[in-house]
Amino acid sequence: MAAGNIVIVGGGLAGATAAKTLRAQGHAGPVILLAAERHHPYLRPPLSKEYLLGKADEGALPVVPVDWYAENGVELRLGAVVTGIDPGARTVTIGDVRRLDYASLLLATGARPRQLPLPGADLEGVGTFRTVDDSRLLRAGLAGGGRNVVMIGSGWIGMELAAAASAYGNSVTLLGLEEVPLAAAVGPELGGFFRALHESHGVRFRLPASAAGIRGRSGRVTGVETDSGEILPADLVIIAVGVVPEVSLAEAAGIELRNGILTDASLRTSAPGICAAGDVANALHPFTGEHHRSEHWSNALNGGKVAAKAMLGLDAALDRVPYFYTDQFDVSMEYSGFPTLAGEPPTIRGSLGGKEFLAFWQRDGRVVAGMSVNWPAAGKPQKFIKELITAKAAVDPHALADPELPLDQLLPAA
Ligand SMILES: Cc1cc2nc3c(=O)[nH]c(=O)nc-3n(C[C@H](O)[C@H](O)[C@H](O)COP(=O)(O)OP(=O)(O)OC[C@H]3O[C@@H](n4cnc5c(N)ncnc54)[C@H](O)[C@@H]3O)c2cc1C
Repeated sequence: MAAGNIVIVGGGLAGATAAKTLRAQGHAGPVILLAAERHHPYLRPPLSKEYLLGKADEGALPVVPVDWYAENGVELRLGAVVTGIDPGARTVTIGDVRRLDYASLLLATGARPRQLPLPGADLEGVGTFRTVDDSRLLRAGLAGGGRNVVMIGSGWIGMELAAAASAYGNSVTLLGLEEVPLAAAVGPELGGFFRALHESHGVRFRLPASAAGIRGRSGRVTGVETDSGEILPADLVIIAVGVVPEVSLAEAAGIELRNGILTDASLRTSAPGICAAGDVANALHPFTGEHHRSEHWSNALNGGKVAAKAMLGLDAALDRVPYFYTDQFDVSMEYSGFPTLAGEPPTIRGSLGGKEFLAFWQRDGRVVAGMSVNWPAAGKPQKFIKELITAKAAVDPHALADPELPLDQLLPAA
């Protein structure tokens, strides 16, 4: 790699991990991390879980200790919004005027919450959820309990926020477009499992339903009107209807886009010297030969590492089996695999009613994805699920379902 600045745009998990990896790889040249937010790069998963629930404080959030940047000679500029890239001149523009040269550039601009153009969406008490500031505000709103909370969106974030709001003793109603929450991600049977979990804690569902408008009085929200005309009373409304990748810089610079910034397996974009990682990158996965854009923690972590190595001219590919997790009430779930490959309904080992089970998705007999719910960590379910996937061997569904058969015995003999 030519000497010069390595510039990282975006101070999230992908950007901060890339900076850390550059130094871990022994790169001694200038590294500049440009972060629009005014907080040191932090982890987002706790924002809808431990931090929101008051079980973790802000000290648990930073990706690396806040002193790490200065101690390692990484120039972290907080509140620095990059407004343009010139791939020909190899410069970025910060704010209105300041230009910065780069030898290599990483776009780790993440994603932003999808907005709903609803009447009343600007009322006080209505918001989206992405940042530590959003989480702090919501925590203050939920903490006393006794409020009516309406969650618009039945995906992972909506479900986690509903669980937290309910745990604080608020009355929670969740509406979403699906017949079953999370069905798009895990199918109707397991989506039904999560619905039943929430209902057992008093969360009410309106499915399928959409919000037609948000009602208010004196500038503050009072309710949500559904498409069937029902008015749901609301003191707080969270719109959690997914995210859109933050591609505006790349788009203006003429970098190739397709559901995010298109990259090869080493996270290189169509523009020489520019990589992309994290939620914004739609990367070629060597296992499937297809592009995948993931909005999960492990993808940002591993993508940051791979992009840093690619910028140093080292061999690296984002070839891990995708992984994510969620915590809702007393359920901890982990998932590894390729949901887009999962054709058939899953095979279950264990008990949905007992809230301790594994689910395996297969395609043509091969395991392509697997989920563990409250499964004892000593059994290393995720390790074996990943090994089953990479082994690409056909597995008998009866064997997958048999609780007596140890997971390691499902693997083909070496
Ligand atoms: C509430 C919440 C809970 C989650 N829970 C889980 C979970 O349980 N499990 C899981 O696997 N995943 C979870 N995720 C997803 C995971 O946190 C994300 O995949 C991860 O944060 C993506 O990291 P990133 O660095 O790609 O992007 P981001 O974290 O979005 O960071 C991108 C940063 O770039 C900045 N930026 C954008 N444009 C510019 C610009 N022009 N100039 C400068 N800076 C810019 C943004 O302000 C942002 O700070 C959760 C996400 C959220 C929001």
